[in-house]
Amino acid sequence: MTRCLDCGSARISDQCPSCGLTSAAAELLFRKRLIKQTTFFLAGSLLFPYLTQIYPPLDLDLMLVFFGVLFFIALGIAVVLDRRARKHQEIEILKRIYAGFIPLPWILAFAIFLNGRLDSAKPVYVPERVEGKFLMKGLVRGTRRLVVQSWRPGQKVERIPVDPDDFDRFHVGDQIEVAVEPGVLGIPWVYGVYRQGKPVQ
Ligand SMILES: [Zn+2]
Repeated sequence: MTRCLDCGSARISDQCPSCGLTSAAAELLFRKRLIKQTTFFLAGSLLFPYLTQIYPPLDLDLMLVFFGVLFFIALGIAVVLDRRARKHQEIEILKRIYAGFIPLPWILAFAIFLNGRLDSAKPVYVPERVEGKFLMKGLVRGTRRLVVQSWRPGQKVERIPVDPDDFDRFHVGDQIEVAVEPGVLGIPWVYGVYRQGKPVQ
């Protein structure tokens, strides 16, 4: 027994009893939908890193690793789905798993956005000393971090995400203040980095 690639109904003949599509037509429709879903997934995957630059979570590196893993699993599933559909093999379960992945970048991006956007708490200013700097040039804007000792229990260092201006402005040994917001969803994020002693706005 095989299933219709498009609607998933069991079919014995070439034509699906449920949606009326032949196996070739069903394959075509399925692959069209796969491209649409994947495009939607990729758009969300661009939005996520973009929003993490506006409201950068303190644990951004950890989140990006998690996000990277999720991203490649999803794309891997899409590739397998495409191959199996070409060969008219069973895809029902994989189709459902993939459908679960599609909205994830959007949900994560939205969570990061709301976490910062709705945060009305006053930032806490933590005095720190720049212990190191980290720069990785990337395709879009790259990764820039100021490394400081952590003020959180159980953690040695914090890698503070900063924009190019702040990255160039501060040097190892500088006394700085890291402004941290708690986040409405409990994801602490970096409001800004300032030079110690200078009035903050
Ligand atoms: Zn069908």
